[in-house]
Amino acid sequence: MESRTDLIEDLMSRFPHVPREAVLKEDLLRGGLAFDDAALTDNEHGDVKPKSYFIFSFDHRTLPELGTAALRRPPEEIVLTGGPYELRRTVVSVRTNPSSPYRVGTDSDGRLRLFLDGRPIADVGLPPMPAYYRHTLANGKSVMEVAPTIQWGYLIYLTAFRVCQYFGAKEECQYCDINHNWRQHKQAGRPYTGVKPVDEVLEALEIINRHDVDRASQAYTLTGGSITSQVNGLAEADFYGQYAQAIEERFPGRWIGKVVAQALPRADVQRFHDYGIRIYHPNYEVWDKRLFELYCPGKERYVGREEWHRRILDSAEVFGPRNVIPNFVAGVEMAAPHGFTSVDEAIDSTTEGLDYFMSRGITPRFTTWCPEPTTPLGRTNPQGAPLEYHVRLLEAYRATMDAHGLSSPPGYGPAGPGRAVFSVSSFMDTLPSTDS
Ligand code: SF4
Repeated sequence: MESRTDLIEDLMSRFPHVPREAVLKEDLLRGGLAFDDAALTDNEHGDVKPKSYFIFSFDHRTLPELGTAALRRPPEEIVLTGGPYELRRTVVSVRTNPSSPYRVGTDSDGRLRLFLDGRPIADVGLPPMPAYYRHTLANGKSVMEVAPTIQWGYLIYLTAFRVCQYFGAKEECQYCDINHNWRQHKQAGRPYTGVKPVDEVLEALEIINRHDVDRASQAYTLTGGSITSQVNGLAEADFYGQYAQAIEERFPGRWIGKVVAQALPRADVQRFHDYGIRIYHPNYEVWDKRLFELYCPGKERYVGREEWHRRILDSAEVFGPRNVIPNFVAGVEMAAPHGFTSVDEAIDSTTEGLDYFMSRGITPRFTTWCPEPTTPLGRTNPQGAPLEYHVRLLEAYRATMDAHGLSSPPGYGPAGPGRAVFSVSSFMDTLPSTDS
């Protein structure tokens, strides 16, 4: 049987124009990695920044199945360099999988390395504990809980509402564990605030602003579950908008404000903009019509695919097409039993969606699907999508972007191999180099 080493080396040689770093990063994101106990963190009391569980679990096992990693969290991200593939600096979000062939541990010289099939393939750097994580709010809550940062400190991730009102099998997106992740953290007794009070968010941002002296943090994302009725008496645009309004009043222009929300009617989108948000992510999740209906039953029922897409186009008139960046979950196109069975078909379909938006100046982006075990698609597809799909998607994404004269979207930090910090897919590692 082909080893995982054979698989990545085969793809590296067949797709020489896709950076080697990106091939490896996609494989780590789709399949996860294991940690020796020595490579775990001391949670909020050590020198390494722990995994914050900022919205989904992004793990291949439930918390009780993670062993020591459930007690001593793994790091939020790792950075890979060197090794036999001569990797340039590559930031990878941590998705824990105790049975992965990738393992982070120490070699005989005591250096932290990434091993694949038992062979060291990269040096591993860990994110230092940021100074702002060493402080707490007046009520004792941690900054990591209220305003965690990811992407090597670039992005403050504000999941203001930790559950989704698309609830249960008939409404939840079939690859999403937001509601399960909330339950498992509650069951484990971890602090996990369902609705974050605005003043707590401001207090946490104050701490970040004071201690982030290098100004590594450049953007914040407001997000959480979809709101189909109200939260605290507010519908979705006003619920998420109130945080932006408060942040922009207190820290005008300090960070780029982004929101990940439903594709809302134009008047609501205008309110997001009026509240001070500058980048809008109305995620379309998967392009194919049949798969969208099957995988996103809540979105289909409350809004519908065609209307969703119409609203994305409308929002470009409010935000400007460059600042509308809808996400899709790369890989679910190939999930059994309903997904495409060939990589060619899946890439053709995904490219059709990219063309649809990019021809209108809108640049979608994608996160690499993590088949979390408590989701319907994760249960039936524990291995995720074929790595070849992910590698060819990087190629198709860049080609479509070039064809439409577009460049890397704003709000993602620098692009290019060795420079990118976006950690949950390698699209930024694959684009031409930029500084910001
Ligand atoms: S809209 Fe779908 S992907 Fe987003 S939080 Fe709700 S269930 Fe998850």
